[in-house]
Amino acid sequence: MMKLNTLNKWRSPGLICLSLALAGLTMMLSTGCTFSDHPEIPPGVSRELAEQRAQMLSQIRYELTLTIPDAVDQPIRGALIIHLHLRDASRPLVLDFKTSSRNLLALRVQGRSVEYTYANGHVVIPSEALQPGENVITTTFIASDVALNRNPDYLYSLFVPDRASTAFPCFDQPNLKARFRLTLDVPAEWRAVSNGETISCRIHGPRTTYQFAETSPISTYLFAFAAGRFDVETAERHGRLMHMYHRETDANTLRRNAETIFDLHGRALDWLEEYTGIPYPFGKFDVVLIPSFQFGGMEHPGTIFYRADRLLLDASATQTEKLGRASLIAHETSHMWFGDLVTMEWFDDVWMKEVFANFMAAKIVHPAFPDINHDLRFFLTHYPAAYSVDRTQGANPIRQPLENLSEAKSLYGAIIYNKAPIVMRQLERLIGEAPFRDGLREYLNTFRFGNASWPELIDILDRRTEEDLKSWSRVWVEEPGRPTITTELRLNDDGAIASLVLRQTDSRGRGLIWNQWLNVLLVYPRGARYFPIQLNSERVRVAGAVGLPAPEFIIPNGRSLGYGLIELDPVSRRFLLAHLPEERDALRRAIAWVTLWEEMLEGQVTPRTMIELALRLLPGESVELNVQRLLNDVVTAYWRFIPTTVRSELAPRLETLFWRLMERASTTSLKSTYFRAYRSIVLTEEGVQRLERVWRKALTIPGLPLSERDLMTIALELAVREVPHWSEILDVQLERIENPERKTQFAFVRPAVSADTATRDAFFESLKSAENRRHEPWVLEAVRYLHHPLRARQSITYIRPSLDLLEEIQRTGDIFFPKRWLDATLNGHSSQQAADIVYQFLDEHPDYPWRLKAKILQSADGLFRATTLLKRSVVGDE
Ligand SMILES: [Zn+2]
Repeated sequence: MMKLNTLNKWRSPGLICLSLALAGLTMMLSTGCTFSDHPEIPPGVSRELAEQRAQMLSQIRYELTLTIPDAVDQPIRGALIIHLHLRDASRPLVLDFKTSSRNLLALRVQGRSVEYTYANGHVVIPSEALQPGENVITTTFIASDVALNRNPDYLYSLFVPDRASTAFPCFDQPNLKARFRLTLDVPAEWRAVSNGETISCRIHGPRTTYQFAETSPISTYLFAFAAGRFDVETAERHGRLMHMYHRETDANTLRRNAETIFDLHGRALDWLEEYTGIPYPFGKFDVVLIPSFQFGGMEHPGTIFYRADRLLLDASATQTEKLGRASLIAHETSHMWFGDLVTMEWFDDVWMKEVFANFMAAKIVHPAFPDINHDLRFFLTHYPAAYSVDRTQGANPIRQPLENLSEAKSLYGAIIYNKAPIVMRQLERLIGEAPFRDGLREYLNTFRFGNASWPELIDILDRRTEEDLKSWSRVWVEEPGRPTITTELRLNDDGAIASLVLRQTDSRGRGLIWNQWLNVLLVYPRGARYFPIQLNSERVRVAGAVGLPAPEFIIPNGRSLGYGLIELDPVSRRFLLAHLPEERDALRRAIAWVTLWEEMLEGQVTPRTMIELALRLLPGESVELNVQRLLNDVVTAYWRFIPTTVRSELAPRLETLFWRLMERASTTSLKSTYFRAYRSIVLTEEGVQRLERVWRKALTIPGLPLSERDLMTIALELAVREVPHWSEILDVQLERIENPERKTQFAFVRPAVSADTATRDAFFESLKSAENRRHEPWVLEAVRYLHHPLRARQSITYIRPSLDLLEEIQRTGDIFFPKRWLDATLNGHSSQQAADIVYQFLDEHPDYPWRLKAKILQSADGLFRATTLLKRSVVGDE
């Protein structure tokens, strides 16, 4: 039974009067402090500092009061009381406060003013002021806005991985978990939400004061709050009350999505309680939907933040978007156990929380989509993305050393989110499902409300298997790259298999062996045979295949269990290129397609051949996940891997086919998938005119309702194609947009599609100011249009300055921004000149931060390969 209602005047129950903790703010006396340089403490939290503090400190409690002013340009003032236990008071105590010394207004220890120093974002309290056992630090300060995402009528914190200390003084490292008690003083019309339950909410004149219950022990990066003009939906699932804070103005959008959002959270919570054997550990459960939030979601315990448009889907949402939403919700909910209840000791193991979140999400999403082939989904979600990094020169290992938390942001990427779940599935296969789950239960119970490292988990799992998990982990987790897996088939004179051997090699020459299970697939006209084998040495025989007749084709990675660059034998490759559309099994079609695509990137198959194969596959492809993959790859090859002349030649065929398949599609979701592909490839005059008629609503597509967002994109696509009156189209579109946030976004992106080069230049210039990069999703959309392949000749001039900006972007941007900035900059290019700019940049910066250099190499890989593939097609390889 569920209840759902919009409570516009929602207030938490039980309004309790409280004396303002803020009073403390004004009562604080200014201290006779001194500031001096402390060069021995480097900026950021070094591993050394973190280890030292972890030994000294325990039982930390923060009582934090923040006053959010009415105007966005006024500073946020704060008062803080820190309680902590010191094992050893013989050394100075280092607090993190990554702003300016001027922002620290007062600081007292045990009620007395102290001679502290401020250096490199740290407040150093001398040992004389400290005592063994309980200590109390009180401070008043001005919070820096860096991680507070302030807007005129709302704000939200985003502290991962080390930004809590930009807002208030604290010990900003994941293994110093603390209890937080927050008081927020906000404009009277605002609502506020945080990790803890709202225990009181007091309106006093033009202000409201919210007081939140003390949290369980959580890491600083997980502490969060949001406040502003939010509406709230409430629902109950299995006796658990949930609130959804949002700013959506369209009642239809809300009605269409709210129940599903609550359902998905309710089911994820139930599943996780069952799997882990541990009840939801954080009391209350709320979600906050934030427009243009930097990530899909962030797992703050008790108050998950989401990017609003990932949860509030349009009526034209594709199946992929619906599955994506379910996975995202399952992912963030899994974090409540994996990451929040048990947290990595240090950010080098950040991948652990992400892998478990994705791994559990894959399991949780199954029952909610009974019609989906989940092996297929796992394959298509994880393999192409993992390969996209692992095939590059910039590939990184899953677990990366980290010397300073200030670099933690650069650890994230496809290897953590996509390769690690594949590896974890291998681990589960190696140990067995039940022992694996029992191991995880032991791990969660042993370290609950605490921290653990990967080796500590491996110790627990190692006791449950005969396998040598430590060597296994060294190759899969501590090293980058993938094996090359080849088949060696020998036939007898009578055509029967004399021997079938699988061989793995390390293309990087390290001689690594990726111990893994494979399901070798042999396909015959009358069916398929699978042979599970453990590839735990360089060469392994598939003994069961000996004596069988020669198959039509062999894929070493049947059922998508294994991981590596699969090199097909020539017979199998020829057969698949000719007959793949006849394959009846959807997963086999997907595996074969992805395998051939990887072969294309290695130069074994031409891009033109792959496009032609896709055009033959699509009319018969009934599985939407496969359609999505094929269209995605065709669009990539179309813009990037074939010469312009071939593109013009192919355009009419692609447009006609996509339009026809859209009209024929039986679901809105599939129609939408084809329509979006059409919209992105359309080039002929006739095709573009048709798109314009759709935008003008002179042509409707039966069964496909277009949302405000769809129309916005169409207008931008028309402008980038420089249709007559493109400027007027943009004007009208801007006028049409009803949602105020989307209106601002459209106005922001608009100059990036202008046909006027000077306007685009000026827009690019504006991005050099960090202030103009605040709304990262908007920036990325605009940068993608700036570098649209149709504009590549001109936008090539932005590549070098974009690379020059990268270090600053790393500093000012959020976790995923640097890589996405690079992708948006480079993905529209395929010329040798563009590649040369990247090579030259790398040559000129031999000492460039290596993690950032790796990101450049990852993002530029497609560009480098494009230049090679295009050269081949010019010399007549097609
Ligand atoms: Zn996550």
